[in-house]
Amino acid sequence: MKKKTPQQTPANYVGRVLFGNYSPALKQRVREILAAGENMEQCGYPVMPYLAAWNEGENIIWYEYAARGFIELLDCTSINVSRVFRESILARRVYRYADQAGSGVEEEVLTRQQLSGKRIDLREEVKKLGQVDAVYQIGLAGGKVIWLKDQGRIETFPQDAVSLSLGCLTYVTKEMEQKELLEKIGYFDELTGLPQRKIMERILEVKIAERQRGHIRDFSFLMLDIDFFKKVNDIHGHLAGDFILEEMASVMLATKRKEDEVGRYGGEEFYGICQGGVQSGVEFAERLRRKIEAHGFVYQGEKIPITISAGVASAGELPAVTMNDLVELADKRLYSAKQQGRNRVVGG
Ligand code: GH3
Ligand code: MG
Ligand code: MG
Repeated sequence: MKKKTPQQTPANYVGRVLFGNYSPALKQRVREILAAGENMEQCGYPVMPYLAAWNEGENIIWYEYAARGFIELLDCTSINVSRVFRESILARRVYRYADQAGSGVEEEVLTRQQLSGKRIDLREEVKKLGQVDAVYQIGLAGGKVIWLKDQGRIETFPQDAVSLSLGCLTYVTKEMEQKELLEKIGYFDELTGLPQRKIMERILEVKIAERQRGHIRDFSFLMLDIDFFKKVNDIHGHLAGDFILEEMASVMLATKRKEDEVGRYGGEEFYGICQGGVQSGVEFAERLRRKIEAHGFVYQGEKIPITISAGVASAGELPAVTMNDLVELADKRLYSAKQQGRNRVVGG
C-alpha cells in the first residue's frame, strides 16, 4: 500500500519553504511536520508545536509553522511571531546533556542583555548538538511573566543549506517559580552548587521524624573537614582554594549513591547523610575519604594533595535524638579524627 502524504499547502501557511526554490525532499518534510503539528493541535494536546527554519550562516530564523496557542499567547500574528517571541524573552536557560538519558546536565543562564549578540553562536551550537533544550522566561503584553520550556530536534538539509527545528513549547511557570525561589533564598551554595546547611537541617528534621514514626531504622550524619586547608590558601592562593572546594564537590557527588546526601556545611566543611547505622555511615565516609585522597587535584599545572577527616554519628546512638545532638556528636568525632593525625574517619 502506498503511504498517503499530505500535498496541499494549508490556507494559513506563512512559511517560505513550500513556495520557495527548495528541494522536493525538504518540501515534503515540511508538509509532513505541518500536518503532524496541526493534528496535535486538533487533538487538543496541551503543548504548542512549532517548526522553525533558518538558512545556513544567516542570522534570521523564521517559522514554517507555529501552533495557534503560541500565537494567541504572544498576542501576535503568524507573520511576526518570530520577532515578537524574540522581543518578549526576558531570560533564557539552556540545558546541555552529557548523554541522552539526561545525566550530567549543565545549565546556562542568560539574561536579555547577554542574549543579544549570542544568537549565531547558539544556533551553531544547537546544530552541532542536533537538539534544543531551553527554558524561556517570557514577558507577555499585559505584563504577566511566564516560563516556557522549548524542546526540539534539528534536521539539516545540506542541499538546500537549510536547517529545521521541530519543537514543542510547554508551560513550566509553576516549576520555574519554585526553582527561582529556591535559588533566591540561597539554598544552594554559589561556589560548589551543593545544598547548604538550611537544606541539611530540613533533611535531618524529616529523617528524625521518619525514624520516630518507625519508617526508617537508622540514618547517619557525616561531618567532613579538609585537612590543613589554610595552608592550601597560604601556599597556592585563595583562588586555588576555591578551585579545590569546587572540585571536592564534584568528587563527592560522583562518589555518593543516589539515596545519599552531600552538601556544604560552611567554609571547608561538608556534610553527608546516608541510610543505616553508624557502620554504614563510616563506610560512606571512608569511600569519600579514599576518593578524595586518590583524586589528583591540579591547579594551574600544580599538583595539590588533599585529604579530609570525618566524624560520623548515627541517630540510633542517641537515646532521644535531636538535630543539635547528632551534629555535635559527629563534630566531636571529627575533632578526634584530627587529633589522631587527620586523613581518617572516626565513628562510634
Ligand atoms: P585542619 O586540618 O585542622 O582542619 O586545618 P585547616 O587549616 O583546614 O583549618 P582552619 O580552620 O584553621 O582553616 C580553614 C581554612 O579554610 C581557613 C579559611 O581561609 C579557609 N576557607 C574557608 N572557606 C573558604 C572558601 O570559600 N575559599 C577558600 N579559598 N578558603 C576557604
Ligand atoms: Mg574547619
Ligand atoms: Mg580544615
